[in-house]
Amino acid sequence: MSELLDAVRAGASADVLSATPLPATVRGVVVRREDMDMFAGMPSREKDPRRSLHLQEFELPEMAPDEVLVAVMASSINFNTVWTSIFEPVSTFGFLDRLGRESIWGARHARDYHVVGSDASGVIVRVGSAVRGWKVADEVTIHCNHVDDQDPSSHDDSMLANNQRIWGFETNFGGLADVTLVKANQLMPKPAHLSWEEAAVNALCNSTSYRMLVSRNGAPVTQGDKVLIWGASGGIGSFAVQHVLNSGGVPIGVVSSPEKAAILRELGCEHVIDRADKGYRFWKDEHTQDESEWRRLGRDIRSLVGEDPDIVFEHPGRSTMGASVFVAKRGGTIVTCAATSGYMIEYDNRHLWMKLKTIKGSHFSNYREAWAANQTLIDGKVVPPLSAVFALEQAGEATYEMHHNRHEGKIGILCVAEAEGLGITDHETRARVGEARLSVFRRHGAGS
Ligand code: NAP
Repeated sequence: MSELLDAVRAGASADVLSATPLPATVRGVVVRREDMDMFAGMPSREKDPRRSLHLQEFELPEMAPDEVLVAVMASSINFNTVWTSIFEPVSTFGFLDRLGRESIWGARHARDYHVVGSDASGVIVRVGSAVRGWKVADEVTIHCNHVDDQDPSSHDDSMLANNQRIWGFETNFGGLADVTLVKANQLMPKPAHLSWEEAAVNALCNSTSYRMLVSRNGAPVTQGDKVLIWGASGGIGSFAVQHVLNSGGVPIGVVSSPEKAAILRELGCEHVIDRADKGYRFWKDEHTQDESEWRRLGRDIRSLVGEDPDIVFEHPGRSTMGASVFVAKRGGTIVTCAATSGYMIEYDNRHLWMKLKTIKGSHFSNYREAWAANQTLIDGKVVPPLSAVFALEQAGEATYEMHHNRHEGKIGILCVAEAEGLGITDHETRARVGEARLSVFRRHGAGS
């Protein structure tokens, strides 16, 4: 037990927190360098995050002048922790070693363990000497865009920076821990009407979907646009649905069960396709796609909304990309940020060029976009898709659930917070948004 973390739990003042010593070690969820090859030769599905993720004590690193230490009240599971835990497509120790060679401060990250996690809500417990705008005891959420602001390439769109990294995936000391180390330019105000765990599950996925569907850097939705959203009740999909609705667009959500379809309808997504019920087989075999199945999906979309989608929100990758390129409207955009089912993509290029379509790549978001996405939460225009809450000790189990697509929305993880439902200070906004809307995923979730 740590005196500092007890003080955080008790809501101590900035003076008390500053005067209380940092603990020598804290708990963090790690993968270990020695385990890097433990799953060699196994199919992805059999690689078990419960075997590779460990909760262990680690020493807090020295803090750089532009950094802060945050006591993590809650965190969340993202798909990047699935990738890290199964060492696919590559081990993340390569990322840490590369960062380690860059600078003295970078060297802190190259260790034989990797503290993972790319989301957090919490309380600042230390600020570096160069930090402006944030102070000890501030309640924050953390976005995962880690950039060196002395690099000129980071000053148009920081996602274009040469050394852009994802905190807790390509850097050490991530969010699945009692205390995390982040740059001050990753901080955002915690939405005061949300509990710690509700506040912790948004920054990574909400910001990603915001860039893809709202920002000028993605494929911004305008009124009336029809938007096909794969995995629409998953992490990024559930935010995508909300952003499309807020922009006046018409989402067509694809899911794989009636329970997930019910979540979408409650969220306001009128048009839902259950891909399991439809039984699409876009691939006849490992090497051959079936255009008639793409056409069947296209007809199903038209029968729901009367036309082809202006935008396709794509991330499953190899399984769906051929279909996504085919069904997009003439002149439409396929915006993609991932390839869960495989990154060697195949599509029929004739459908792209003859119909003047665009494939747009997107990755997380810059600070401005993350901040704007956070504001949608503060304003209550977007709600956290929290479906289940696990303890930090159960991070491996929670990651396993995600790896096997047995979750909805987002899984929250309690770190320093002792119980659910804590941290809410703005009851008026909470009442305005409404408990019913805030609990849509929780009521339907596997963890309910
Ligand atoms: P998630 O919560 O697991 O949701 C993904 C959903 O996609 C699943 O729930 C599933 O929904 C659907 N899906 C999975 N495989 C599919 C397939 N073969 N065909 C059709 N649908 C499929 O994950 P997430 O957090 O939304 O992340 C999704 C992907 O985006 C991951 O690969 C992640 O690494 C990536 N990502 C990238 C960024 C970035 O910045 N580049 C940011 C966030 C996430 P149904 O079974 O209901 O259809």
